[in-house]
Amino acid sequence: MSIQVTSVSKLYKEQKALDAISFLAKKGEIIGFLGPNGAGKSTMMKILTGFIKPNSGDVLVNEINVLQNPIEAQKTIGYLPEHNPLYAEMYVREYLQFRAQIFKVDNNQIESCIEKVGLTDEAHKRIYQLSKGYQQRVGIAAAILHNPSVLILDEPTTGLDPNQLVEIRKLIKELGKEKTVLLSTHIMQEVEAICDRVLIIKKGKILADQSLHVLQNSTQQVIIILFDKTILNNDFKVLPNVVSIQKEKESWILTFDAKEDMRPKLFDFAQEKGLKILELSAQHKSLEILFREITS
Ligand code: ADP
Repeated sequence: MSIQVTSVSKLYKEQKALDAISFLAKKGEIIGFLGPNGAGKSTMMKILTGFIKPNSGDVLVNEINVLQNPIEAQKTIGYLPEHNPLYAEMYVREYLQFRAQIFKVDNNQIESCIEKVGLTDEAHKRIYQLSKGYQQRVGIAAAILHNPSVLILDEPTTGLDPNQLVEIRKLIKELGKEKTVLLSTHIMQEVEAICDRVLIIKKGKILADQSLHVLQNSTQQVIIILFDKTILNNDFKVLPNVVSIQKEKESWILTFDAKEDMRPKLFDFAQEKGLKILELSAQHKSLEILFREITS
């Protein structure tokens, strides 16, 4: 197991930032850590990388206990902190050489990292002269210099323009082929674009741990429907394959687990009950729906 987090809690004074969080990450997975601001993502990442200690719980990275042996664990972890702190006055190559010295990394690793993250044409420039997207690449290059097998990226795409976003996501996906990646974001599309799995976190608790593959192949369908007359929750009992029934203002949000399209069944249902359908929309269960279900 690359990452093993067991019942980790963290308090900042009386505020609970993490509340008994547990999860596992297998080798080679790209996991999206998705949640609103203040959910506890950065706190979890700082604990995973040995920068702060939790109040309780256990953290193993590559079977090394991070709380007892942070330095040993850090040798196997690459970390891109939020806001990517860089020395802007330094030249790209000079900065990476400086980082390489700290990690006692061979100089020839620097050139291969520069190439891997696509910085070859920019490596002679000062960091402040680079665009935000290229600065992110410098941060990622610095994080992978010592060839870690686990990569922790805290909001790696914040502040990037749409083209840079695509480029950095491509780079992360590429790195994910050989490393376990945990990346935090509050953007659902980002998770859908790069991750194998999503952990949804809110107020320090994990509310969902779901494989994207399972989600994308789910037979669940969500139908939002508005009738001309009021009906009761119980009236839907005659319908097959119902998973959940929710009401949002005047509309009903019905989740079905069925291979067949449930819309014709709803038309028959409306007719039998003497109802007229004023609006109807159907979607397959997506990350967006899951997110709405569990965080609303
Ligand atoms: P996220 O990364 O999901 O935005 P954080 O881990 O940064 O969330 O924060 C979780 C909660 O802990 C927030 O309510 C935040 O205000 C609080 N918090 C984070 N760092 C500190 C700190 N150093 N001191 C006090 N409270 C903090």
